[in-house]
Amino acid sequence: MSKQRILFISFGQFGSDFLEKVAAAVKSEFGVPVGFDINYGVLTHFYDPSRRQYNANELIKFIHEKYGNNGAKTIGLFQVDLFIPILTFVIGQAVYKGNAGIVSLYRLKNELYGMKKDENLLFERFCKEIIHELGHTFGLTHCTSPVCVMRSSTYIEDVDEKNARFCASCKKQLDQALHEEPS
Ligand SMILES: [Zn+2]
Ligand SMILES: [Zn+2]
Repeated sequence: MSKQRILFISFGQFGSDFLEKVAAAVKSEFGVPVGFDINYGVLTHFYDPSRRQYNANELIKFIHEKYGNNGAKTIGLFQVDLFIPILTFVIGQAVYKGNAGIVSLYRLKNELYGMKKDENLLFERFCKEIIHELGHTFGLTHCTSPVCVMRSSTYIEDVDEKNARFCASCKKQLDQALHEEPS
């Protein structure tokens, strides 16, 4: 039995049905308990007015400091546009072998690209990116398999091309990490 746990912290408005569905999908891929919490704090402190985006590195640092020492792999779920200084935007980000990561819905919405709203597609994309960032927290690096969830995805097209699942090789590595003691 794995002693690992996954925790989602939602920042901003998410439907509870939507989050329940995401949690169920993540739970079936990792086979460990998935919990929830809501952070009602304001994100003003993380906003960069010159970029009109939110600083992903600072948000990860915040999540790590506030939640990171409870042993759970904690993923902050956001609705806002995220960036790191060297990139125009990021969909998500995580600490390699760490306890903190973040993923935002912002860049995953069809509407942003002038396409019709699609809730199912949005759900799939969000799950893929969450599973991907969790993979990093369990020590997985980017995978070259075109359909593996650990393939790097900079753009929405990349997200759509891959599956929400780990390839056999990543899965094997993940299973080992799942049996390590939580840090
Ligand atoms: Zn990645
Ligand atoms: Zn892989």
